[in-house]
Amino acid sequence: MNIKQQVESAAIVLDCRDHGESDLIVTFYCHHHGRLTGIAKGAKRSKKRFVNKLELFSSLYITHTIPRNNRLAFIAEADLTDGFLALRNNVSCYTTASVIREFILLATKEMEGDTDLYPLLVWTFSSLNSNRAPLPLLIFFLIRFYTIIGYSPQLDSCLGCNQQVQPNETYSFHVATGGIHCSRCTRNEASRLNLSHGTLKSLTIALNQPLERLHRLQLSAHSQQEALTFLYSYGRQLFQREIVSWAFLEKV
Ligand SMILES: [Zn+2]
Repeated sequence: MNIKQQVESAAIVLDCRDHGESDLIVTFYCHHHGRLTGIAKGAKRSKKRFVNKLELFSSLYITHTIPRNNRLAFIAEADLTDGFLALRNNVSCYTTASVIREFILLATKEMEGDTDLYPLLVWTFSSLNSNRAPLPLLIFFLIRFYTIIGYSPQLDSCLGCNQQVQPNETYSFHVATGGIHCSRCTRNEASRLNLSHGTLKSLTIALNQPLERLHRLQLSAHSQQEALTFLYSYGRQLFQREIVSWAFLEKV
């Protein structure tokens, strides 16, 4: 009998693994608690309570305890909000969602996270689920994600000379300092990540538009390529880790 206080959370499943014969250990991203890992007792046996609900990327309402001292939460119930079936049945969408999942797991600790991240995550998964092009969605997600976690890249002016971005100038992103250099201030030619004026403008719009208006923003194939290369390199630098799932994006 569990007598601890239980709360309800809107949550997205980010990880699910077997525990013993009948239990599952599930990691969620919750609206108000951030990352939460809990045990769903008997989930592999109980056909009613959890079946088809604790699938990767599903959106749920869960009833759970608040874990203390790095222990697992107890997941009492789960109600499916959206299983995002179309997302899970499309390889490109699934791969994109896997990259997003990896970034969130890298950036958050248990019971930590920003409340702005949950709406962004739900918006991105819902958009993937309604067959929107995955790569622009990944770009929109990542540029806003870096800002939410406190590492917004500087894209409006040159780090060297402070001059505002100009239409006929070429820029390169400097991963170590998280900002751009104009052609006069760029030194290391070998490792430069080009960002054209058009790409910088689109990224700034992607960062500042309300989510519901983002689908109107069109990105050229060239801007998508520039943006993805910079977002990936910046992530590797920030987390000092390879983004393992990124390799599968080549096929998207
Ligand atoms: Zn400059």
